[in-house]
Amino acid sequence: MDFHVTDKGYYGTFGGAYIPEILYANVERLRETYLHIIGEESFRKEFRALLRDYAGRPSPLYFAARLSQKYGARIYLKREDLNHTGSHKINNTIGQILLARRMGKTRIIAETGAGQHGVAAATVCALMNMPCVVYMGATDIARQALNVRKIEMLGAEVRPVSSGNKTLKDATNEAIRDWCCNPADTHYIIGSTVGPHPYPDMVARFQSIISEEIRVQLMEREGRDYPDYLIACVGGGSNAAGTFYHYLNDLRVQMIAVEAAGRGIDTTESAATIHLGREGIIHGSRTLVMQTKDGQIIEPYSISAGLDYPGIGPMHAWLAAAKRLEVLAATDDEALHAAFELTAIEGIIPALESAHALAALAMKTFRPDDVVVLTISGRGDKDMETYAAHFRISRDMSKNK
Ligand SMILES: *Cc1c(COP(=O)(O)O)cnc(C)c1O
Repeated sequence: MDFHVTDKGYYGTFGGAYIPEILYANVERLRETYLHIIGEESFRKEFRALLRDYAGRPSPLYFAARLSQKYGARIYLKREDLNHTGSHKINNTIGQILLARRMGKTRIIAETGAGQHGVAAATVCALMNMPCVVYMGATDIARQALNVRKIEMLGAEVRPVSSGNKTLKDATNEAIRDWCCNPADTHYIIGSTVGPHPYPDMVARFQSIISEEIRVQLMEREGRDYPDYLIACVGGGSNAAGTFYHYLNDLRVQMIAVEAAGRGIDTTESAATIHLGREGIIHGSRTLVMQTKDGQIIEPYSISAGLDYPGIGPMHAWLAAAKRLEVLAATDDEALHAAFELTAIEGIIPALESAHALAALAMKTFRPDDVVVLTISGRGDKDMETYAAHFRISRDMSKNK
């Protein structure tokens, strides 16, 4: 079985492009040209140069000795937290801004949840001298003040969104509405492997630099270019797609995605879309959606603003349905514990999103010689207030050492 996208934009029964008529020509042009543009030698050169000199790639593959000892496996961390702007999001925004320029677009819009994609989009717009509007839910604006200030300092405009529960889904709705009004001059930089085809595939390709580097780095360190396990958190699915990409069809590699369970998948406060969702259409794509019996979207909840999305990339919905992907869910508490643990024993403060991936280590049993690569999708700076409110957990942990 091939787990990549089909020509028509499907992953099994998931994917496609369910868009309003007014966007048809735009999305169709993107679909017709994206593979050609990103395959061009001049594009590849410019993309690679910016990833290296501007974003700071390759990101290190760090052998975490104390974490390995604790969980009884050979655990490597793929350090996307060390990229410029603090997460994997920059890989995708560099790719998309180069594409937008080649398509003659003069204005950029983006949505953001935790603000990491907003910062990454505003950053490349400053770099390329393009005007940028970032849609952000009012709830997220309140809880991610640092990133809002950064986006503004970078010269982009933050437009607050007050519909729904004022988070990522609602910001995405507004960005799509803007795009419908400005289809000719505007490129919409979607921040994850979601949205109508070709976005999920395009974003996965830009993020696939992660698994491309893992292959080379593992070869140097372990003498083989594949791990036994890959672990990544999933919101919309882009850091996971990048981590898995070159291993999708390599069945020696077990892939694990970790969703945000929020207060638990058996509560009404969760964002575990693959566990709880049913097939439906959201933001232009057929995928799993958290919805009521009559198709109303259920507002997602997670302590992490980057993971509380009621949909999931169509690639991940398909990988899970086809049993290629194991899907776990970590609660707020499990993620917090994992974040404090990594900080205490490795000196790395991870993003709350990444902490969900770390929480999976305690849920699995490994053999001592298993090679595990876990992607740290971002750094914890933006989450310091949340962490500070839970320092008690960290104090209790050191008492029990
Ligand atoms: C945005 C974000 C995520 C979630 O998005 P994906 O597309 O699922 O990767 C995870 N971690 C960090 C640090 C983020 O900024």
